[in-house]
Amino acid sequence: MRIVLFGPPGAGKGTQGVRLAEKLNITHLATGDMLRAEVGAGSELGKLAKQYMDRGDLVPDEVIINMIKSRLGGGDGMLIDGFPRTLGQAEALDAALQEANKPLDKCVYFKVDQDELVKRLINRASEQGRSDDTPETISRRMDVYQQQTAPVLDYYRSSGRIVEIDGLGTPDEVFNRLILAVGGENKN
Ligand code: ADP
Repeated sequence: MRIVLFGPPGAGKGTQGVRLAEKLNITHLATGDMLRAEVGAGSELGKLAKQYMDRGDLVPDEVIINMIKSRLGGGDGMLIDGFPRTLGQAEALDAALQEANKPLDKCVYFKVDQDELVKRLINRASEQGRSDDTPETISRRMDVYQQQTAPVLDYYRSSGRIVEIDGLGTPDEVFNRLILAVGGENKN
């Protein structure tokens, strides 16, 4: 099974992605985590990416597409979180997966209203101290999501691959909905 987790910053994709990948025993590819690892390692890619991340902007398509393509080769099953975030990325992902004969099955959209998102991000800022969780970057990331990322939803909708879930509630509640959405059995 190949799944994309999709939604605005703070929607809970990261938390749920780790759990779902573990449960389905598939590779978890999270571009935000990969980029933070590059930043932490001080690589050239990390230095470049940090400039964009700290402003709340997207890392350029060609950079991020190359990064993810180099990791698509693993097993058959994969869970992708934080990617695609632009139409160009969505098209590149489809092309790469088609070529490998491993098309994407589903894109799960986490629906959460804006007020709740901002609350969660501010909360996360105080807990994790992520350098891109400042009030200015949070607002910038929301704008970037609306302008560049939201159109990706229509892209998947028009090809019938979107499953929508309510992202409000406890992590366990959301996880149960996620399991149902991807057609896995619900043991919890
Ligand atoms: P969030 O938890 O806010 O959804 P992530 O941890 O997924 O954020 O990503 C953090 C930052 O990394 C983004 O704000 C962006 O700068 C960069 N990034 C992550 N994924 C992508 C992507 N697919 N395209 C461009 N930039 C990305």
